[in-house]
Amino acid sequence: MNLATYFMEATYLIASILFVLALKGMSHPETARRGMFLAEGGMFAAIVGTLVGQHIVTWVWIIAGLTLGSIIGAWMAIWVPMTAMPQRTALSHAFGALAAALVGVGEFLVHANEMSVVTRGALGFEVMLGALTTTGSLIAAGKLQGVIYGKPVQFRGQSALNLCIFLAMMGCFAYFWIHPESASIFYSMLGIAFVFGVMLVIPIGSADMPVVMSLLNSYAGLAAAATGFVLGNNVLIIAGTLDGFSGFILSVLMCKAMNRSITNVLFGGFGAVVAEATSNAGGVMREISLDDAAMQLAFASRVVFVPGYGLATAQAQHAVRELAELLEGRGVTVKYAIHPVAGRMPGHMNVLLAEANVPYSSLYEMEQINPEFPSTDVAVVIGANDVVNPDARDNPKSLIAGMPILEVDRAKSVIVLKRGQGRGFSGLENPLFFKACTSMLYGDAKSSLSHLAQAVQHV
Ligand code: NAP
Repeated sequence: MNLATYFMEATYLIASILFVLALKGMSHPETARRGMFLAEGGMFAAIVGTLVGQHIVTWVWIIAGLTLGSIIGAWMAIWVPMTAMPQRTALSHAFGALAAALVGVGEFLVHANEMSVVTRGALGFEVMLGALTTTGSLIAAGKLQGVIYGKPVQFRGQSALNLCIFLAMMGCFAYFWIHPESASIFYSMLGIAFVFGVMLVIPIGSADMPVVMSLLNSYAGLAAAATGFVLGNNVLIIAGTLDGFSGFILSVLMCKAMNRSITNVLFGGFGAVVAEATSNAGGVMREISLDDAAMQLAFASRVVFVPGYGLATAQAQHAVRELAELLEGRGVTVKYAIHPVAGRMPGHMNVLLAEANVPYSSLYEMEQINPEFPSTDVAVVIGANDVVNPDARDNPKSLIAGMPILEVDRAKSVIVLKRGQGRGFSGLENPLFFKACTSMLYGDAKSSLSHLAQAVQHV
């Protein structure tokens, strides 16, 4: 080995260690930012190691790619709003997977006939997963952005058709494995995989896209790991495998928090059957005036804020922190209740509240806060709906039966901040809004919170 190769292997080792430490850091909100920096450091080390250690055919393409990629990446990071983060992430998966598929095509063009059987298998796997993840992620991004029909697209014979497409793709893969010289079969496999990615995602509603995306993330990681086998690149194998399995674990955790199985998410067509589901909701919703709500909060001794998707769309994180600080200034104990799937992506509420400098020590996980609701004077639900729906606990026939919830209905008083009668992600009516302990404060969450803060100051 020459010096450059030693350097490359050393940077790959450092990069791999940084990736592992990054994942560990990202497992807790308090260390997540450090985790991101470690991951960036790992990626930088891997790029530098590759550029120094590999024979570079031409720098022009590398510099052009780096520049263009950096411009697009910076533009996305700066301009894409927090609420559009899920679709932004889906686009990143599409780019990553397309890169893996293209590297596979490049390797096929240059080396297909000299590859070992194992490497050929990895190449086929890489191209298949890369291609289907590319189109699957693009459809997911389109559904989340609302540019593609978001409801599950299901039709008679769909499963049989999907099975045929899958078998055709696997058939091409097997043939290519035995006859690597057959370009037509290789490109057929690639084309069918692109189609399969579309077919995999269209039957799933936009509401389930975050779970689908974390699965696609897992596929993109495995495609990268396969690329690592094809190129003999250890850091790609390690990073791809970490990505692949962490994505899969995240999908499982999200399904658990929604009390759904992965099969139900992938094949259940959630959102298509809402009309048939039953709900315990009924009666009238009681409205509360701003002044009455402010009075309740100002004279409470324990208040729990329960943020949900509406907080994210209203960008009300700063407004809630300001109101919380005012109340704390009056001696009120304020806590924030965080449901694991509140919002539209894992950790959505943590990220928003961290952005507004809400201290981590004020955030309480569902298991910690639920026993505290009976002694809470006022629970303020801010744009949350499904995660506080008591039907999930009380109504076995509900579509979300069994999903763990924040039990705000056990608080002495509940004030719900939402714009109107809009339903949540599940499309279900929420009996919480009709309970005697509940009152509704209608309006955009940000403006309601700001007005509440002004009113509290005058109490
Ligand atoms: P939700 O059930 O979607 O409800 C959000 C509520 O916010 C709506 O009822 C809406 O009512 C209100 N709202 C919207 N914009 C608002 C605004 N500007 N100001 C005030 N209110 C506003 O939200 P959630 O309780 O957070 O539940 C999350 C759901 O997403 C769960 O069902 C979960 O399973 C699902 N999910 C989450 C993830 C994840 O990773 N977090 C992944 C997949 C699925 P109005 O229209 O009346 O205002």
